[in-house]
Amino acid sequence: MSNIFKILTLKCKDASVLLTRMQDEPLSKSDRLALKFHVMICKPCRRFKKQLELIKRVMSVFKSNLTKLAQLTDKQRERIRKKVLSKL
Ligand SMILES: [Zn+2]
Repeated sequence: MSNIFKILTLKCKDASVLLTRMQDEPLSKSDRLALKFHVMICKPCRRFKKQLELIKRVMSVFKSNLTKLAQLTDKQRERIRKKVLSKL
């Protein structure tokens, strides 16, 4: 499939698969280009991309602060939960 054809025909379903896959592995140049263009013109996919990035950041912080998180009070956990939900 030519790059321009892939860029013009990428569907949201395929974009969501690529967005999810790119969290774990690098995409081919043509997939990256098609995805970049699709995300520029598609608000739902742009939002999905931001949500995936937020989840990745939260999980990274969670992993690196597991001991500290276990020592938080219920009030502190609730404040963090509300802040995370407000970003979605
Ligand atoms: Zn889309």
